[in-house]
Amino acid sequence: MIVLKFGGTSVGSLENIKKVAAIVCSIKEKKIVVLSAMSGVTNTLQRISNLLLDGNIDSAKHKIDNLHIKYQGVINGLYNEKGIAKKANELINQHYNLLLSLLDTCYSSKIQKIILAQGEIISTNLFQLYLIEIKHNSKLISALDFMIIDQNNEPDSLSIKDKLLKIVSNQTKADTFITQGFICKNKNNEVDNLERGGSDYTASLIGAAVGATQIQIWTDIDGMHNNDPRYVDQTFSIEEISFDEAAELAYFGAKILHPQSIIPAMESNIPVLLKNTFKPDAKGTLIHNSANVKKIRAIAAKDKITAIKIKSYRMLMAYGFLKKIFEVFEQNETSIDMITTSEVAVSLTIDNTSRLDNIIQELDGFGKIEVDSDLSIICIAGNIAQNKKGVTAEIFNCLENIPIRMISYGGSNYNLSFLVKTSDKVAVLNLLNEGLFEQTISEKISLLN
Ligand code: ASP
Repeated sequence: MIVLKFGGTSVGSLENIKKVAAIVCSIKEKKIVVLSAMSGVTNTLQRISNLLLDGNIDSAKHKIDNLHIKYQGVINGLYNEKGIAKKANELINQHYNLLLSLLDTCYSSKIQKIILAQGEIISTNLFQLYLIEIKHNSKLISALDFMIIDQNNEPDSLSIKDKLLKIVSNQTKADTFITQGFICKNKNNEVDNLERGGSDYTASLIGAAVGATQIQIWTDIDGMHNNDPRYVDQTFSIEEISFDEAAELAYFGAKILHPQSIIPAMESNIPVLLKNTFKPDAKGTLIHNSANVKKIRAIAAKDKITAIKIKSYRMLMAYGFLKKIFEVFEQNETSIDMITTSEVAVSLTIDNTSRLDNIIQELDGFGKIEVDSDLSIICIAGNIAQNKKGVTAEIFNCLENIPIRMISYGGSNYNLSFLVKTSDKVAVLNLLNEGLFEQTISEKISLLN
């Protein structure tokens, strides 16, 4: 069995829903299809919920009306058979009435979760009705019947597996199951969710539960690129990457994949294929444990980084100093990303500066504090094991004229990161692309000619 997950853009319009259906129908294996809400819908539902919280009922009603109109437009264009269009309209009206009825209730987080769940429930129902119209045998299964989170809001893998396997094995006639991403039930049997962007996580959890042979994540880009196409011209999509390397890149805005989502797939050793709904013939990127070893796989950057340097002669040969510094960050609920130390100073970076003033105040007693902002972390992912010669030279030789503020190397075998001024970022990404990928790029160009 394989699992296919289509994101919001993939089901974002009636034309795209048809494209998704064509992909689903072209895959012969038994499959579970996980869908997001149509793009923008969860944001709108979130706004409706915020308006309710603020007691702004008229604006909330206005937004619900607009959603209703949007869905009616989709239904008008999607179905040819009158009977199916009628069913779809009934379904939409039912959800519209549900949302309207919530306008009169007392707002609570329970109500908020019910509102947020509507996007995925509607998209999966509309999609399944379309499969009925094009005569593709499928079965809609509700994620609320098997996707369970425990008291710590963590997926309860055993229950998920148990419930899902029962549901699937009771349906011997269906080869295609459709279900919702993102939504789940909590330990109180209330509607809940796996947090924004959680549909990838759903797909990964389902893959692990059914022991899928592959999990496919369909988005609107051709998998992961070797560098950031927004700043570098000659980038290419990576054909394969290891889980370790993909995990290193996840933090760096490799937005294509929700960072947490990869964990169940990785633990169950299930390959994850990233594909483009709008270019289904493109190879995409396969994340798996036996990816061929590449010295340098990809480069990514993250902006809005702030570096904090704490310099103190008391640190010399002392123990417990770092612990005290880390405690300041822990108390301020701020995560540290990069860290480098010398005998008398420690530099670290953060990307959330909401508590920076507090942090600086609390660090003041430890030594001299310097803060630099407008920095970017550049991450190089690959098989950069420390026992190999020449890798670091190869990287830094490309950057002769760029001032580097911090370097982090040796934390893992798959990552080397360094910190530069954001104003140098584009130059750095381009210099590294030329220096590290020149050969691959010219091979790819010669294949095209
Ligand atoms: N629809 C949800 C969101 O927009 C979940 C998802 O698409 O992954 O966050």
